[in-house]
Amino acid sequence: VAPADSLVHALRGAVAEAPDRTFLAYFDARLSYREVDRLSDSVAAHLAERGLERGDRVAVLLQNSPHFVLAVLGAWKAGATVVPVNPMYKSGEVAHVLRDGEVTALVCSDRAWEAYLRDTAAGSPVRIVLTGCERDFQTRDDARVLNFERLPEAPDADDLVTVARQGGRAPEGRAPGPDDIALISYTSGTSGTPKGATNTHRNIMYNAERQRTGLRLPEAPVYYALAPLFHITGMVCQFAACLNSAGTLVLGYRFEPGAVLDAFAEHRPHYTVGPSTAYMALAAHPDVTREHFASFVNLSSGGAPVPPALVEKFAGRLGPYIRVGYGLTECTGPCAAVPPGLRAPVDPVSGTLSVGLPGADTLVRIVDELGEEVPFGEPGEIVVSGPQVVPGYWRRPEATARTFPDGELRTGDIGFLDEQGWLYVVDRKKDMINASGFKVWPREVEDVLYTHPAVREAAVVGVPDGYRGETVKAYISLRPGAGTDPDELAAYCKERLAAYKYPRQVEILPDLPKTASGKILRRELRSRAHDNSDAGQ
Ligand code: ATP
Repeated sequence: VAPADSLVHALRGAVAEAPDRTFLAYFDARLSYREVDRLSDSVAAHLAERGLERGDRVAVLLQNSPHFVLAVLGAWKAGATVVPVNPMYKSGEVAHVLRDGEVTALVCSDRAWEAYLRDTAAGSPVRIVLTGCERDFQTRDDARVLNFERLPEAPDADDLVTVARQGGRAPEGRAPGPDDIALISYTSGTSGTPKGATNTHRNIMYNAERQRTGLRLPEAPVYYALAPLFHITGMVCQFAACLNSAGTLVLGYRFEPGAVLDAFAEHRPHYTVGPSTAYMALAAHPDVTREHFASFVNLSSGGAPVPPALVEKFAGRLGPYIRVGYGLTECTGPCAAVPPGLRAPVDPVSGTLSVGLPGADTLVRIVDELGEEVPFGEPGEIVVSGPQVVPGYWRRPEATARTFPDGELRTGDIGFLDEQGWLYVVDRKKDMINASGFKVWPREVEDVLYTHPAVREAAVVGVPDGYRGETVKAYISLRPGAGTDPDELAAYCKERLAAYKYPRQVEILPDLPKTASGKILRRELRSRAHDNSDAGQ
């Protein structure tokens, strides 16, 4: 069977097949496929009535919740492109995304709207605002959406739940085509300002279909959303894959190990994906037993290196084998993974666990500086081509040409292939810092540090961290006579950047090491940071 053109089409198929099956489970709430279809139709109708046109951008800034799913499906039914926004972003970061994506509609929580988005949105093209929920509903009692209870109205905005219940019909002729842009997924980069990867519906459906056919899950599979849906892995491997299989998606708001284990016991999920830190936290919970994992057919992890010892210990103590996957936003989630039934080999030299085998129709090549392929076993840059690779970045022809020469994705990761075709990731060419899957680009943090009046020079690097894999460290030199200290500088960044980006360590040096031409030697600082850190020894 050919994959559906889009998740809107997949939803139609699921409604025809199993209208009363639970699609979304959220605390005590259950929404069937038929209900999600009806409610998202109404969201689409509202967006169209308010002037949203085909191809317009709708930003969705929400934690994992039914609101998120209704907003995304509603936007797609109205022919729009969704711009997922990390709810951890501070207003400056959100403002950039709203402006760059020329977003005209925004869906967010009432709390975020009141706290900081009203002002941010005022200076952007945003015309339509839907607010979804009042506060952090982390407990059952707080999960007011359960009954779709009306929440206090945000004066400048419409309420998503009310809109969803109005009963409108999605506008005719707006269903997306496979090459329409489904998502603009913002990722940072060397420039420091995030740019949007344009994931098409075809990109998403390809990876969703690979999951459906490749994971050996039962009929009507139950997915647990451990990863956030606003991130490409959660969006594709959980939401898209689940909907494409007409399965049930269990949503649990923010990660809290005890609550997640309870949800596992209650819903008996077959599949989830999350960063290795989530699995470490679950394994460390005092109440955890093998029974919590007994229902899983497949447990995946990706986005950051997974320590081989974690996989071994987890399988030994709790049963399931954690399957590693590798991917990027630019290839719409995974492009390589450990197939079910197989165990990833460990490279005897580096001790690195393989990140899997490239998927069908996916070509992974390893190239040297000149773009020439290197022999098996030799490291080089990983380049990827296949149906999940995005056509480029949103309105960035130069960055697109650089990163996707001839349509092939240059990942900026260093890795090698062994003779059996297993892929290993060993290093990075790019400056990105990977704190257990949270990506931090030094330039973005440095740009913030440079706005501090006491800072003369700033360089941000990753340092080894026993738990997160890496953490953010800033080296600073001060302007003559300036008075500040590391804590103050860290706090300054924390106010302006999402919590995972601010430097956990700040060291002030009289001068930063530089090349003869005056360029800061980041590599030297990185080795200095590695030498000084415990985990690096
Ligand atoms: P994935 O789709 O695998 O979850 P991601 O969604 O986290 O990746 P990005 O946030 O764009 O995607 O980050 C991509 C980067 O994450 C890669 O370029 C690589 O540096 C790193 N990465 C992803 N998976 C792995 C892995 N299994 N091992 C090591 N690094 C990885």
